[in-house]
Amino acid sequence: EQDVADYRKSLAIRVSGFDVPRPLKMFEDCGFSAELMKAIAKQAYEKPTPIQCQALPIVLSGRDIIGIAKTGSGKTAAFVLPMIVHIMDQPELAKEEGPIGVVCAPTRELAHQIYVEAKKFAKPHGIRVSAVYGGMSKLDQFKELKAGCEIVVATPGRLIDMLKMKALTLLRATYLVLDEADRMFDLGFEPQIRSIVGQLRPDRQTLLFSATMPRKVEKLAREILTDPIRVTVGEVG
Ligand code: ADP
Ligand code: MG
Repeated sequence: EQDVADYRKSLAIRVSGFDVPRPLKMFEDCGFSAELMKAIAKQAYEKPTPIQCQALPIVLSGRDIIGIAKTGSGKTAAFVLPMIVHIMDQPELAKEEGPIGVVCAPTRELAHQIYVEAKKFAKPHGIRVSAVYGGMSKLDQFKELKAGCEIVVATPGRLIDMLKMKALTLLRATYLVLDEADRMFDLGFEPQIRSIVGQLRPDRQTLLFSATMPRKVEKLAREILTDPIRVTVGEVG
């Protein structure tokens, strides 16, 4: 345990919560499928970044997480890779039952980046990813969602629009990611986030990532996460 403590200290990593799984050092230790390992190799990701080392075993074990780390630290793969595993673990269900993974991001640029990253790892497994954000035709988006998908990457406003249009339901969604939660709050998306969370099953897994943790985000985290483990990397938050 001392080596883990020294390692965390050297990278300014703070972890709190109970029964925290040991961090891992290599993607080979994640138990990923051959397809996922191939997709990781294709990205030239040699080894997990510090936030990935801490977050992957936590999320893969099914726990909720609050991840605080600055931009560029590799948070996207930290939630996308376990999301693929989570979806592959689900029993086959009718396609009209809606997405299993739901990712909310503050802007269309960010949502698009996550969509691109998610597709790289989803495609080899035949998992379908839909992007839902403003600037695209609502009718096209409606049709795409109606055709079915396992992952939705969305800005909160447009996702609410699509839910109102009954383009999808969140009845099957069991993996929720709130990415850049502080920015979503800055942009005034708190009511939309609460509405989306309210449509999700209470037994879902919830992941919240943020560069900072203002009091309002802290309060939301306390309300919507279950026994989360908090991981802070670097002098942030
Ligand atoms: P964040 O969300 O923390 O700002 P990103 O997930 O956007 O960071 O990742 C930043 C960059 O690092 C991206 O270009 C991504 O492809 C790359 N990256 C992610 N994980 C790894 C890794 N394990 N090894 C090398 N590069 C990585
Ligand atoms: Mg990010």
